[in-house]
Amino acid sequence: MNQETREKLEAWLRYYDDLGLRSFYRQRTTAPTSRTEPEPPPAPAPAAWRSAGPPPARIPTLPIVQGPSLFEAVERVAGDTLERIREDIGECTRCRLHRQRTNIVFGVGSPTAELVFVGEGPGHDEDLQGIPFVGRAGKLLTQMIQAMGLRREDVYICNVIKCRPPENRLPEKDEIATCSPFLLRQIAVIAPKVIVCLGNVAAQTLLGTHKSISQFRGQWLDFRGARLLATYHPAYLLRNPAAKGEVWNDLKKVMTVLGLKPKSP
Ligand code: URA
Repeated sequence: MNQETREKLEAWLRYYDDLGLRSFYRQRTTAPTSRTEPEPPPAPAPAAWRSAGPPPARIPTLPIVQGPSLFEAVERVAGDTLERIREDIGECTRCRLHRQRTNIVFGVGSPTAELVFVGEGPGHDEDLQGIPFVGRAGKLLTQMIQAMGLRREDVYICNVIKCRPPENRLPEKDEIATCSPFLLRQIAVIAPKVIVCLGNVAAQTLLGTHKSISQFRGQWLDFRGARLLATYHPAYLLRNPAAKGEVWNDLKKVMTVLGLKPKSP
C-alpha cells in the first residue's frame, strides 16, 4: 500500500473509531461503470452575488484532526456530477433508514452555487416531498436565505443523511458514516465558496469533531479550500427565537464574503 493510500485509510479508520465503529470486513469492490454522457455546461451564478467581496483577514482552522481529514480521505470520483451521485445512491438500502422512508432527500438548488447549506436529515415533510427543508424549519431557512438577498434556487441545500430517521431522532453514527460520503461528493462537485452547517450534526460531521457547535459557532473555518461556518439549526431557532440575532450575525458574515447586500425591508 502506498503512503497516500495508507494516509487515506488511516483518516477513515480514525473517523470510524470516533464514531465507535470498530469491526471491519474485507471490502467488496464494484466494477466501475463507464459513463460517457457529457457534463452540462455550468449555469452562471446570479450577478448580484458573483463579486467576491473582501475576504476575511484570516480564516482560522480548528485543530481538530491530526493528518488528512475525512473529506481528504474520500476518493475523488473523476468526472463526478450530482446526477451521478444520485444515481450511485440509487434506491439505497445501505442502512436501516431505508425501511421507513418515503423518499430519498438528495438535495436541491444550483449545481454551481457559491453557498451550500448543510442540514442534519429529512423530517416528515421532507420525507413526503423528497425535498430538503420544506417543513416549518425549512420555511424559516427559506426566509433566512431571502433575507440574505438570495432565492433558494441560488444556493444548494442538502443534508448529512438522505433518509428520515424514525420520529425525527438524531441520526446514528453508522448511518452518518454510511451516508456522509455522498454529501462529501456533493460538496466536491459543487465546490462552493462558503458552506454553512446548520446545527451540530452537520458541523461535527464535516469537521470530524465531537466538539459542540457552541464552541465554534460563527467562526470561519477552512474546509478544503471552502470557508465553513456553523450556525444554529432553524429548528433550534423555532424553539429558541432569541437566538435568531446570533444566526443573523453569522449570515451577515457570509454575506460579506459573498459580496451580498441585505434585502431592503
Ligand atoms: N431539518 C434538516 O436538518 N433537514 C431538513 O431537510 C429538514 C429539517
